[in-house]
Amino acid sequence: MANRVLLSLTLFISLTSVLCEPFRFDNFSLFKVVPDDAHHIKLLQDLQNSDINYDFWTDPVPSAEFVSIMTSPMNKVALEHFLSLHGIKYEITMPNIQEAIDKETIKTYTRNNLRSMSWDAYYNLSDINIWMADMARTYPDVVTEFVAGVSYEHRQIKGLKISHGPGRKIIFVEAGMHSREWITMSTACYIINELLTSTDNDTMAAARDFDWYIIPVANPDGYVWTHTDFRMWRKNRRPFGTNFGVDLNRNWNNNWLVSGASTNPASDIYAGPGPFSEPETRSLSSFIRSVGDIDMYLSFHSFSQLLLIPFGNTTEPVGNYHDTLNIGRRAMGALSVRYGTQYVTGNIAEAIYQATGGSVDWVKEHLQVPIVYCYELRDRGQFGFLLPTDQILPNNEEAMDSVIDLIHQARRFGYLSGGSVGLQVSFILMLVGVLASLW
Ligand SMILES: [Zn+2]
Repeated sequence: MANRVLLSLTLFISLTSVLCEPFRFDNFSLFKVVPDDAHHIKLLQDLQNSDINYDFWTDPVPSAEFVSIMTSPMNKVALEHFLSLHGIKYEITMPNIQEAIDKETIKTYTRNNLRSMSWDAYYNLSDINIWMADMARTYPDVVTEFVAGVSYEHRQIKGLKISHGPGRKIIFVEAGMHSREWITMSTACYIINELLTSTDNDTMAAARDFDWYIIPVANPDGYVWTHTDFRMWRKNRRPFGTNFGVDLNRNWNNNWLVSGASTNPASDIYAGPGPFSEPETRSLSSFIRSVGDIDMYLSFHSFSQLLLIPFGNTTEPVGNYHDTLNIGRRAMGALSVRYGTQYVTGNIAEAIYQATGGSVDWVKEHLQVPIVYCYELRDRGQFGFLLPTDQILPNNEEAMDSVIDLIHQARRFGYLSGGSVGLQVSFILMLVGVLASLW
């Protein structure tokens, strides 16, 4: 059995904390497992719960069309035996994870040179922060930098506010809470870039009509760790004995630890010692609360190509679920236009098998934000967290298309309107015109 294999992934992870070089994933492989029925799902759930040798990149949820599992070379044969024994179909989509990591181009951003930010590479935390500062300096009339919180290791959680004047409705974008999901930080930066530089009419209108708060890296300590030590790190970096890290998207004070989370600090879904126990979630939630009434909240994760709707603890439709489902489905239609990429829209509890303590549930329940979504960006298990750099731009473009369409669709369903200064002004002008014609 796999759990008899001596060297566990956890041991690998703790070893990395004493190494100077990043941990190497030589001959680690990624399995894309395709369960046929509920029995297969149950077997995979048992494997996930009983054997920490395997890093489940996606969860074996009842609705899962595939499950991505990373294994070390030592545990690979045992996994193949397990799957064959139970007649579960699989393919190895990446035979050597390190090869994919080596192909991930990480570029350097040069201060005062906005052109050195490109969409065919990933950037580290300090470069993203310097780029944001440069954007704020370049567009001083509309952009302000803000600090939304602080991490366990005292790093600032930075973001940009884009505003063309007071009185706008608020759209809040948060990304990078799971540090290994590198595409999400890039997508948030791309949204900033488009809102400030695009010449597309709809994008310019979206920039003009709303106050945007955008945080590309909500988990800075984890993100730094993925660059310096361990590419597959998901949590923050708070120590608990010999273990490290709380899953920040299980730590929010909403149905904390009710389901889909762990009390074991070694687990990748460790919910922490208590709700809002972590400086990141505590400070970020205070900041989100402080900005005023938010009308749309978007949280970016990867991967699986899903658009998720709160809540994580029930499959029952809650509040304006049907509206958000319809709005989301239409926006995912818009997402598919450019490259044909298919997303599924649905409830978190259906798609993620009841995961509570996430940011979107808290925002929806405690701040009563009307439109709330959680994206799971590209891909569908081919590369997973190691999305090749030639997919960064297409992913970002189609995600941006969908954000613009979310606004469009939400308005059609009666949201996001009424408070816009632009709309008020045009209404007043129309009224003046009518009155003048009557005069
Ligand atoms: Zn995530």
